[in-house]
Amino acid sequence: MNTKELIQNRMNDLTKYEVVVKRLNERGVELEDIAKITYDLQIKYVPTLTFDLCVEHVHKVVMKREVQNAILTGLELDIMAEKGLMSEPLSTMLLHDYGLYGIDEVLALAIVNVYGSIGFTNFGYVDKLKPGIIKVLDDQGKEEGRCNTFLDDIVGAIAAAAASSIAHNYA
Ligand code: MG
Repeated sequence: MNTKELIQNRMNDLTKYEVVVKRLNERGVELEDIAKITYDLQIKYVPTLTFDLCVEHVHKVVMKREVQNAILTGLELDIMAEKGLMSEPLSTMLLHDYGLYGIDEVLALAIVNVYGSIGFTNFGYVDKLKPGIIKVLDDQGKEEGRCNTFLDDIVGAIAAAAASSIAHNYA
């Protein structure tokens, strides 16, 4: 994969890319945090894997239009819930990350969907284990007035999708 290839891919949207990365940063997530999870997911299968390659594949995932749309939608819903702009019963479900809500996971599936069945397996694994930044976000989401209900699943899905992208290219 090279820069030229990324620009030419019609599934990519370079104009929204910057906005999406900025939004994630504003919510406390760096792409490197996501790449760490990808590394841990994939090092068992690709022994020559480097952290830089994981970062590269996380970038590649976030370039995709469908992925960007899911990120923008999820982050907006978290922020709206924090601002008290949601009506009941949705407001309480989002602010308290109600376990049986489930739509946060469904939205995140739009991200892994781009990479086929390996993506789904990786996402399920990450969702159970809550490694690294996901646990941080999960704990932070429990604080009063903070909502990370969609964000933790989005981050897990990006990590899983990047791991799948590596698997498709190197395994
Ligand atoms: Mg969630």
